[in-house]
Amino acid sequence: MGNESHSIHEFDYSLICEYFALLDRQGPGSPAVTVKALSFIEGLTPASRIADIGCGTGGQTRVLAGHAPGSITGLDLFPDFIHIFNANSQAAGLSDRVRGVVGSMDSLPFGEEELDLIWSEGAIYNIGFERGIREWRRFLKPGGYLAVSEASWFTECRPDEIDRFWTDAYPEIDTIASKVRQIQLAGYVPVATFTLPESCWTDHFYAPQVPAQERFLQQHPGNAAAADLVAEQRHEAELYDRYRAYYGYAFYIAKKL
Ligand code: SAH
Repeated sequence: MGNESHSIHEFDYSLICEYFALLDRQGPGSPAVTVKALSFIEGLTPASRIADIGCGTGGQTRVLAGHAPGSITGLDLFPDFIHIFNANSQAAGLSDRVRGVVGSMDSLPFGEEELDLIWSEGAIYNIGFERGIREWRRFLKPGGYLAVSEASWFTECRPDEIDRFWTDAYPEIDTIASKVRQIQLAGYVPVATFTLPESCWTDHFYAPQVPAQERFLQQHPGNAAAADLVAEQRHEAELYDRYRAYYGYAFYIAKKL
């Protein structure tokens, strides 16, 4: 890859970060869903160590901190997100037990068997579900929990258009039954699985993007990359509207054997 394409790549990333930093959440989810997933996890104490991987600006991390004891390390690849994450934690009076760090989910800065809980909403796809659940396992204490949300097929068959869109965007998208089997084969006990309500996509994810898109386009007049990004997000929302019966996010909660 030449320098020129490298800089285009970097530019796109900074635009993508700027766009998603306008939102409280960078993926589908809701406070109620975070609390529901947490309800399946037992044994957390003020001494517990929790990691929120691919935390973004930390909307879900702050909900987690409000409902679980222990200290939480949020980790994200993008420094701008972590900057916002730490400012928000401080504003919420959480900075004594919630800390954001820049890092990558493919080389986590934790010790073997250090963590009581690994949390990750809408982010594990960045290294792939199967690789993520296998590689992250060693950082969990025996009996520690994994709680991740992940794009999943709700049916065995689906229309071609949506099958092609997702297979291109994330080839590892699969049925809930297949994901649960992967969890079991990776050395966890599957504890609970539930699908996220549609409102996590419509009310909590796509609706706040509508005013954010207007603002973002005003901030980047005549910028083709910015216009493309907005067009892509609108297309994605439109596909969701049409094909929501066939896919969505599921939460997977599992316990290390
Ligand atoms: N968990 C948040 C954000 C989900 S979006 C929420 O649910 O709102 C996915 C996040 O993964 C983004 O913040 C992105 O910056 C982060 N990410 C992408 N690749 C990553 C990597 N290799 N390591 C850590 N974080 C990564």
